Amino acid sequence: MGGPEIEHLISLLGKLPGMGPRSARRAALRMLQAPEARMLPLAAALAEAARAVKPCADCGNLDSRDPCSICVDRSRDRSVICVVEGVGDLWALERAGVHRGLYHVLGGTLSPLAGVGPEDLNIGALLTRIPEGAVTEVILALSATVDGATTAHYLSDRLRPLGVSVTRVGQGVPMGGALDVLDDGTLAAALRARRSI
Ligand SMILES: [Zn+2]
Repeated sequence: MGGPEIEHLISLLGKLPGMGPRSARRAALRMLQAPEARMLPLAAALAEAARAVKPCADCGNLDSRDPCSICVDRSRDRSVICVVEGVGDLWALERAGVHRGLYHVLGGTLSPLAGVGPEDLNIGALLTRIPEGAVTEVILALSATVDGATTAHYLSDRLRPLGVSVTRVGQGVPMGGALDVLDDGTLAAALRARRSI
């Protein structure tokens, strides 16, 4: 169509979530028509984010500071940790403003079938956070799937002996990557409807 550079750009753009070949071509064309205004600032932002953004050593959130902005925010309720599968879930809960405590990002769920064990997830760091501070409750905001339930029970068994109450958000709420599609009211209701496990 216009040389290997354009094809390469379109193929990279097409690998992004929500981008098919058609939207990748449109995005590439839009940038190529104004490289100074659209393309170079984007390239610089990509390079800067790739250099600066890292997972928080405490909670697993992505931030350009470590510990992340949430972990160092003294105005947050440090007695409650909300455990989520991915950073996308954390972002959705933050945008909705429904959780004022801290977070912990697991990086997935336990899945015996897919060969995902406790050592593959960010579980050790979670267990070390409990005795350190004044954590009284851990809220599990995990998917309502078999793997989500397996993970919730495993975490509950490990956390309860440490003296914290363990709760799980309302069942039937699609956590784990699907949080983004929920409106804020549904998210708030799901958090309010948490139960002990
Ligand atoms: Zn953090």
